[in-house]
Amino acid sequence: MDDWKDREVLIVGGGIGGLAAALALARRGIAAQIIEQAAEFKEIGAGIQLGPNVFWMFEALGLVEPVSALAVFPDNLIMMDSITGEEVTRVPLRGAFRRRFKHPYALIHRADLHQVLLAACRKSARIRLDAGQKVVDVEETADGVSVTTAGGKAYRGAALIGADGIWSMVRQIVVGDGAPRPAGHITYRAVLPTAEMPEKFRWRDMVVWAGEKVHLVHYPLRTGDLFNLVAVFHSNRYEEGWDSYGDPAELYERFAQTCEPVRTLLAKIESWRMWVVCDRPPVKDWSRGRITLVGDAAHPMLQYLAQGANMAIEDAVCLADKVAEHDGDYPAAFRAYPLARYLRTGRVQIMARVYGEFFHAGGVAKELRNMMLGARTPEDHIAGVEWLYSEPKELTRRTPAAAMVS
Ligand SMILES: Cc1cc2nc3c(=O)[nH]c(=O)nc-3n(C[C@H](O)[C@H](O)[C@H](O)COP(=O)(O)OP(=O)(O)OC[C@H]3O[C@@H](n4cnc5c(N)ncnc54)[C@H](O)[C@@H]3O)c2cc1C
Repeated sequence: MDDWKDREVLIVGGGIGGLAAALALARRGIAAQIIEQAAEFKEIGAGIQLGPNVFWMFEALGLVEPVSALAVFPDNLIMMDSITGEEVTRVPLRGAFRRRFKHPYALIHRADLHQVLLAACRKSARIRLDAGQKVVDVEETADGVSVTTAGGKAYRGAALIGADGIWSMVRQIVVGDGAPRPAGHITYRAVLPTAEMPEKFRWRDMVVWAGEKVHLVHYPLRTGDLFNLVAVFHSNRYEEGWDSYGDPAELYERFAQTCEPVRTLLAKIESWRMWVVCDRPPVKDWSRGRITLVGDAAHPMLQYLAQGANMAIEDAVCLADKVAEHDGDYPAAFRAYPLARYLRTGRVQIMARVYGEFFHAGGVAKELRNMMLGARTPEDHIAGVEWLYSEPKELTRRTPAAAMVS
């Protein structure tokens, strides 16, 4: 009997992780209720990079086509030295890379990815979506969960998923490890219409200009209509939130030592949004009874491997698989799910910090970086990312798609 599937799973947070979790459950026939604090379901922010690994999840969720229709498929990942202006290394993304990883590397506007997930959720009769409801209290009972919102609304369900991001309140109930850890870095981001991007930098590549304690990233978005710019520098400032105003004067001062092309690109932007970068050290378990976490609530990571959203979507598929495998025994499924995930997500959390050190290296460390990366062949590059971009077999060995509810 599959009656248990009709009792809703409550999902706190309607970001990329929460929507993906609802969709993955619904594809297994399991009902879900998403509860989002914002007045409407939408994403702020700019670009997001998608590794070939997440396309296996899009296959499972039936989303390869709509995502691909909105994505740009870059030719290379390039690292430039932002002091000398010289190329350090490039990873070609077509040819051998594509043959090895089967799926592409892609760039997409965060709002577009969110919209694709939202549209799929809205199409499903198994998913209900409520916006404008901030969850303030979560309780577990013998056979279910209940939550209360700031406006006094109550929800009951069979289990609960905290998909409430890096400042997760659900995490405090499950893991209880306080505030996330500031990395000592500040990020400024902006989106520029391609017409305003200097012609010589309109590359169809994902480019990192690495400098001492600073770096700049740019890549095309929206089938080439826009460019995404992200500038990062070291700072001790701490401010919670994702969307504060960023003072350009501070940015120019931090990037004063960089080469002319980098400063030219920074000067193109009039209005920056900024936020303080945080993560947490990996933990082994992020479930308690009928409550678990996905995405940044479970394993927040620095953005330097460009995998936070990718990991959230992988979590969603894994979690739904475990619930289906355990036939609705949520405590057992929620024990099995972090066990299947923590070594992979922990590795990404740790390696993202290492990449940050690489991007910001100075002195001897920078010389070594340039020398080591510069000597790499395309085969070396592929070998270096196999652990991350290969088919995540533990997630793709599942019931055939025919058994899914679309
Ligand atoms: C500069 C930067 C660049 C990045 N680039 C990439 C990239 O290239 N590729 C990649 O994969 N990842 C990238 N990431 C990471 C990625 O953005 C995150 O990992 C991802 O958005 C996490 O999704 P989430 O759903 O877990 O959390 P969020 O996107 O934070 O969503 C959480 C949701 O929960 C809601 N919420 C919170 N509290 C409550 C509450 N109490 N009640 C109800 N709702 C609540 C919030 O309003 C929000 O909608 C980047 C991050 C940064 C900072």
